[in-house]
Amino acid sequence: MSEPLSRRSFIRWVLAAGAAMGCPIPGKAAGEDKTPSTPSGTLHSESHTVCHQVRDEDRLPVPPPSRKADLVIVGGGPSGLAAADRAQDADFVLLEKEEHVGGNAYTEKWEGLRYGTGSAWATLFNPEVEAMFKRWKFEMNPIKSLDATCFNGTWVPGFWDGNPDSPVFDQVPFSDEVRRNMRRFCKDVNAMDLEKDKKKLDRTPFSELLRPYGPELLAYWNTYGPSNWGCSAAESSSFIGVQCAKEWTVLPRFSFEGGLGVGSQKVYESIKPERRSRVETGATVYKVRKLGKKVLVSYFKGGEPVTIEAKAVVMATPKFITWRVVEGLPEKQRQAMASMKYAPFMVYNLCFSRVVYNQAYENFVVGAKHFTDFVPADFVTKGKEGDLSRPQILTVYSPQKQEDRYVFLDDKATLAKAYAAVDELGEMFPSWKEHLKEVRVYRRGHAMPMSMPGFYTGLQPLARKDFGRVFFAASDADCDVSDFAFAGLNGINAVEKALKLL
Ligand SMILES: Cc1cc2nc3c(=O)[nH]c(=O)nc-3n(C[C@H](O)[C@H](O)[C@H](O)COP(=O)(O)OP(=O)(O)OC[C@H]3O[C@@H](n4cnc5c(N)ncnc54)[C@H](O)[C@@H]3O)c2cc1C
Repeated sequence: MSEPLSRRSFIRWVLAAGAAMGCPIPGKAAGEDKTPSTPSGTLHSESHTVCHQVRDEDRLPVPPPSRKADLVIVGGGPSGLAAADRAQDADFVLLEKEEHVGGNAYTEKWEGLRYGTGSAWATLFNPEVEAMFKRWKFEMNPIKSLDATCFNGTWVPGFWDGNPDSPVFDQVPFSDEVRRNMRRFCKDVNAMDLEKDKKKLDRTPFSELLRPYGPELLAYWNTYGPSNWGCSAAESSSFIGVQCAKEWTVLPRFSFEGGLGVGSQKVYESIKPERRSRVETGATVYKVRKLGKKVLVSYFKGGEPVTIEAKAVVMATPKFITWRVVEGLPEKQRQAMASMKYAPFMVYNLCFSRVVYNQAYENFVVGAKHFTDFVPADFVTKGKEGDLSRPQILTVYSPQKQEDRYVFLDDKATLAKAYAAVDELGEMFPSWKEHLKEVRVYRRGHAMPMSMPGFYTGLQPLARKDFGRVFFAASDADCDVSDFAFAGLNGINAVEKALKLL
């Protein structure tokens, strides 16, 4: 067995949550006990205290209104930012709980290089998206490579191109029968009618649809699905599995160096400078209450409770918190929101002193235990070219099981997961180890709405219904998969309805 990648005594480990930056954590020397010692220093965390109090039904103070605004937008991820951009000439206030905007699309820098802590790439899946991105002055680079996929140690470039006759199937390290199964599945999904059979597909677990095609294909989707829509095949709606297998590869993909967090910043910058102070960070909303033609929004800012009176509200927050905050929702709608599930995610950014990998943009490792895929942060600008002695960051995605969410509250256990992922990569790529300088660990407790059976035709339509003067945005309101562009479209759609009431 090769030496693990993490020469822990020499590598800086930086632990953060959401996107708040933490301080460096001392590592351990290679060969020491795998369990890390309690990290010293101050570690930052996603601002979850107030939301956990809401979850635990703590009695929080609701002061009388001390402020007024025509429109309150709750949440400053891509959806809330898109709503604020559209509403910028109105009397609006956006309240965001973190100290920065961007939500799950947030970018940071290491030694001047940008890297993603969540959302990576976009497709221009309809003309509305194209126009929206143009308005925000998105100048993204095309992703020129197809994904690479590793099966049992063999890398297959361009795996899954949606073509049953593709020579790529000849490269997988399996028997002819397995290859035939893969081609057959590809042919069968291409013949399916997604719109006509939407309900049936949505009610069927993807694993059931995959059963006749063998375990090798199931293993592939058990890696791809969690990374892209938060679920293994057994937990996924067949609608998303079939849509992805059939359609995703034909859509050109784009991104910024460092991912779509750059996009969040651009949406924010599309708000006129003199209106940007209306975007307030460090403000966690815990109650939204309708009262006749008013909506009262209570939030904590700097530890103080404040209530603001609005004429309309856009909730650009994921539904797992929305249903707990908005008072008096109809029972069916409340239940639909409460039934939505969200996958926790670790994102590890491995910072290297030189280029260690530049073969493809997305790289999936089927069957890896501690991560699903990784992306070279500068691939969209450098591709396979450039000076190989330049520093490089690899963004490693590690979706987690829901039952492991509690780990995120424990720094020591979080770090153990990071060590395991980095060691697993080190065994695959022993030559990386001497160049690794720093590891940045992000934990996102409820990161990705899970595309479970019933998500599209059952839960989403009920959850997004307008509630009087309260409108529901966020990417989970109406999407094929949680996605920056859907978040933007949903924000704009909700705020346009709200603006009509002002
Ligand atoms: C690891 C990962 C990888 C991804 N990769 C891609 C990708 O490649 N391409 C793509 O298009 N999409 C990707 N996504 C999905 C994309 O990031 C989301 O669809 C998008 O961020 C959703 O935007 P949103 O505004 O709806 O929600 P969020 O981004 O979740 O933003 C919600 C905001 O609301 C705030 N908030 C929550 N509760 C409160 C409260 N009580 N009071 C005030 N504020 C509150 C949060 O802090 C947050 O800022 C990825 C997501 C993850 C987690």
